[in-house]
Amino acid sequence: MIDPNVLGALADVVGADALIARPGETRVYECDGWTMARQVPDVVVLPRTGEQAAAVVRVLHRHGVRFVPRGAGTGLSGGCLPLDAPVMICTSRLNRIVEIDLINRRAVVEAGVVNLAVTRAVAAHGLLYAPDPSSQSACTIGGNVAENSGGPHTLKYGVTTNHVLAVELVLPDGEVVELGGAMEDVPGYDLRGLVVGSEGTFGLMTRATLRLVREPEAWRTLLGVFETVSDASNAVSGIIGAGIVPAALEMMDRLIVEAVEAAFHFGFPTDAGAVLIVELDGAAAEMDPQMRDVIDVCRTHGAREVRVAEDEAQRAALWKSRKRAFGAVGRLAPNYCTQDGVVPRTKLPDILRTISAVGERHRLRIANVFHAGDGNIHPILLYDERDADEVRRVIAAGQEILRACVDLGGSITGEHGIGVEKVGELPLIFSPQDLLVMQQLRGVFDPDQRANPGKIFPTPGACVEVSKPRRQVPV
Ligand SMILES: Cc1cc2nc3c(=O)[nH]c(=O)nc-3n(C[C@H](O)[C@H](O)[C@H](O)COP(=O)(O)OP(=O)(O)OC[C@H]3O[C@@H](n4cnc5c(N)ncnc54)[C@H](O)[C@@H]3O)c2cc1C
Repeated sequence: MIDPNVLGALADVVGADALIARPGETRVYECDGWTMARQVPDVVVLPRTGEQAAAVVRVLHRHGVRFVPRGAGTGLSGGCLPLDAPVMICTSRLNRIVEIDLINRRAVVEAGVVNLAVTRAVAAHGLLYAPDPSSQSACTIGGNVAENSGGPHTLKYGVTTNHVLAVELVLPDGEVVELGGAMEDVPGYDLRGLVVGSEGTFGLMTRATLRLVREPEAWRTLLGVFETVSDASNAVSGIIGAGIVPAALEMMDRLIVEAVEAAFHFGFPTDAGAVLIVELDGAAAEMDPQMRDVIDVCRTHGAREVRVAEDEAQRAALWKSRKRAFGAVGRLAPNYCTQDGVVPRTKLPDILRTISAVGERHRLRIANVFHAGDGNIHPILLYDERDADEVRRVIAAGQEILRACVDLGGSITGEHGIGVEKVGELPLIFSPQDLLVMQQLRGVFDPDQRANPGKIFPTPGACVEVSKPRRQVPV
């Protein structure tokens, strides 16, 4: 348990009402969206300002205490699991939009601001914040930066790193540094770029300066219905191959369509093998000719039906269904584990065949909903955590799928990060020398490995009890 002196010093900084230390209350923070492993923190600290956050980190530095940063806990790789770190610093009260600069199209926000709140704050001015993870109504900018998050519209607009100009970071010794800057091109090493995607292992981010983009003049959104996932995958390659770059290109297979339809009643055909959501955006004059090309490609690859959203309400309903697809999965099984891998787009049919074969071999149901345009797959492995053998099969199946991604020329994560989940898979894509250099780099920011220990790279002494079956839902 945490030293009472440390607890006292933390209370002096943030006030007792910003500390959560009662076992019943800390349990809420035992995991993120990857529920395979759980660990309750000794204490959760909720600073209200960047200054308080820095003072908290200085207290921890003085006492040699490890900590884990947490945003909203929507991560899907166990990134904010308090592994060998008694203190969790949660940014939910760092939720102010500090400045909106409309002329220069920038926003300065605190780390705990929810992703969607940024777009909501600037929408009246015809601007938006482009990275839009499907969790955007809950996840924070700090979590997005730490994971370099993507989303449906990052096919055209790029991932988080393309939209972050600067970050304010509290280093693990409490020093506050500003990396990057408000200008578009800051000379010197791109330390801002290093922090994006560092999964909380360089310290605690307290602020970010974000790039805003203009809302496109027009949209067209299409639902393509296919008999097989193979046809839908070939249509994905066909669309990009035709020189069209949609704003978003998403796929859902039959199992997920059934769950989403039961939850939201959009009118998805539940007998289809797969559906594609294709969104175009840009100048109004370009929309109809481009959409005709997309429809042609879909039909060439066997689409049995194409539906273009007739108005904004239909478009919004379609996206609502897609973005809440993970939530609908609760209808299919008590538990699920979302995998995240990448393959070259043209290899989508191969990886989807492999996923299906892996599912059969391990006697598991696997649903697929993913950013097809990026080749970023998200097989969702359904299970019941009360069945220890099934949990083991889920873990083995996930590892096989990731290995297959690498064999097809892809990678072990597209956007959810390494966290705890994929520490063992890192050597599939990096040599021992690569890993050594990355750890040396981490040591520049965090020589004592006190920020988010046990993540990305194994830390000696850290221990994670993966797959300890524990009842999660009432029966
Ligand atoms: C339904 C659902 C849909 C999702 N869809 C997508 C998607 O489309 N695209 C996508 O990329 N991801 C998606 N995710 C994953 C997740 O939402 C993202 O990784 C998100 O960026 C996590 O943000 P968070 O605030 O919840 O971070 P957390 O889960 O709290 O933390 C994630 C990591 O960031 C670190 N961290 C958090 N805040 C800070 C900070 N201030 N300073 C330093 N480190 C910090 C943590 O230590 C941890 O390592 C989805 C998750 C769910 C549950």
